[in-house]
Amino acid sequence: MKTRSIRYASLAITQVLSVAAVTLTAPSTPAAAAGFDWTSPPRQPRSSVVYVEEHVGARFDSALRSSITFVDRYTGSDMRLGRCRTGYRCIRVVESNATRGHGGWTTSTAGRATSEIRLSATLARKNWNTRRSIIDHELGHANGARHNPKCTSRMWPDYRCRNGRLPARTFTRAERAVLATW
Ligand SMILES: [Zn+2]
Repeated sequence: MKTRSIRYASLAITQVLSVAAVTLTAPSTPAAAAGFDWTSPPRQPRSSVVYVEEHVGARFDSALRSSITFVDRYTGSDMRLGRCRTGYRCIRVVESNATRGHGGWTTSTAGRATSEIRLSATLARKNWNTRRSIIDHELGHANGARHNPKCTSRMWPDYRCRNGRLPARTFTRAERAVLATW
C-alpha cells in the first residue's frame, strides 16, 4: 500500500511539471485567435463517452455539432451533447468574453474531468467556417492537443494562416497521437 501511494505521488509531480511547461510555452501574443490555459494535472480514468454541455446559442450550435463529429474521429471518443454526468468527462461550452482577447479559450480542471470552452462575441461575428475552425481548435485543446507553430493543422493559434486561409481541417501526426490517447 505504501509503495503504491508513493508511486502515485511521483506520477502526479511529473504531470504537474509537464503542465507547467505547457503553460510557459503557450503563445500569449494578442494576435493569437485562440488561447488555452491548463490549470490542473493528472488525468482520470478514460471513458469514451464525453458529455458536451452546450450553453451557446444558435450562432454556434451547428458549428459545434460539426466540430464534435470531426474531433471524435481522432480521439475515438463519443462526445454527446447533453448535461454533464458524474463519472464522465465533461466539456462545457459557454459564450464568454473572458478569453484574454482571443476568439476562444479553453481551460481544464479537476484532472481534466471537466473542461470549459469559452467562445467570444467577436468569434460570434465571424463567418460559419471561421467559427467552426476555432471550435475544432478548442475541442482539440480540451482533448490534449497543444498549439502547432506551423499552419498545418487546426492547432495553429491564429484565425488564419499567413496566406489568409483558414488552417487546414486536420491534425498533425503528433497531434493525432495525443488526441488518441487522451
Ligand atoms: Zn489554442
